[in-house]
Amino acid sequence: MQTDFSANWAEPQYFSIGDYYRQRFGEKTYKIPVSIADDCPNRRGLNQMETCIFCDEYGSAANVDSFEKSLSEQIEEYKSHIGKKYNARQFLVYFQSYTNTFMGIKKLREFFDLALSYPFVKGIVIGTRPDCISKANIDMWNEYAEKTYVSVELGVQSFYDEPLEFLKRGHNGAKSIQAIRRIKNDCPKVDLGIHFIFGCPGESSQQIIRSAELCNELQVDNVKVHNLHVLRNTGLEKIYQEGGFKPIELEEFAEITILFLEHLSPEIPVHRLGAVASRWEELIAPDWTRRKMHIRQTILDMMKQSSTYQGRLYKAQPQLLALHNPRINLSL
Ligand code: SF4
Repeated sequence: MQTDFSANWAEPQYFSIGDYYRQRFGEKTYKIPVSIADDCPNRRGLNQMETCIFCDEYGSAANVDSFEKSLSEQIEEYKSHIGKKYNARQFLVYFQSYTNTFMGIKKLREFFDLALSYPFVKGIVIGTRPDCISKANIDMWNEYAEKTYVSVELGVQSFYDEPLEFLKRGHNGAKSIQAIRRIKNDCPKVDLGIHFIFGCPGESSQQIIRSAELCNELQVDNVKVHNLHVLRNTGLEKIYQEGGFKPIELEEFAEITILFLEHLSPEIPVHRLGAVASRWEELIAPDWTRRKMHIRQTILDMMKQSSTYQGRLYKAQPQLLALHNPRINLSL
């Protein structure tokens, strides 16, 4: 039987981040994706790292032209557009592209202060990677979290080393678990989100289930699920053209995502269900990635047909010592 949690969900199948924002901020709240960073450890080639194979030249930015605009212009233009379209009044500024902890603290503070100077901005969301978090970043996040909403979104992509090596992420799963534990321990007022990419070669159902369980055990605050898609001029395009990668079909991606959601705690909000290419002309494959609403609807329809929902197979565990004691191994 479905839990009481779903009483406040817009869709009976899952707890969306929109539901969470509505509960937290009292009304629908939208993210404004902005670009302030233009670099990351991978692109810099630190420690022999390489560019992640899925990443295009814009570092996963939502809008290419944002790089030519000041932060104020990005915020004001997006707010004006979305505000009119959806009658939106409240926003979070999402520092999305590249690695937003890979620049000086002084500069970051200027950007955060500018974003928060707008009365309609209710908080900030900072995208980064698990191996790029300094003590100075942690201290700054805590300071801002005393006065506003702060969320950090980590590109974990997978807890497993084989997919991470395939993606050329330059960090392993243990590093992600270490970063999650650190943020959860040291930043109690900061929401921690983690991003996954599903669809790497060799991914097993058991790994998907265990990934959801780890999110529960580590008490992450929200998750985002992407499908691995091929963009032009990326490392993955080369592998794809050489026959070394076959994107998963929509039905298979939906099955994986549903399996993940069934094992995920019903108290963890979920961002979008699947990735869409921000720039359609860049998308090489799979073609179904062009249809954002169709991906989401396919997943919801399949869940409805199977009478399933987020958390249906979730088992609350008396585990939480594991979060706070790094000597306790969280087995993969
Ligand atoms: S995904 Fe992030 S870390 Fe990887 S190359 Fe792109 S910007 Fe850099």
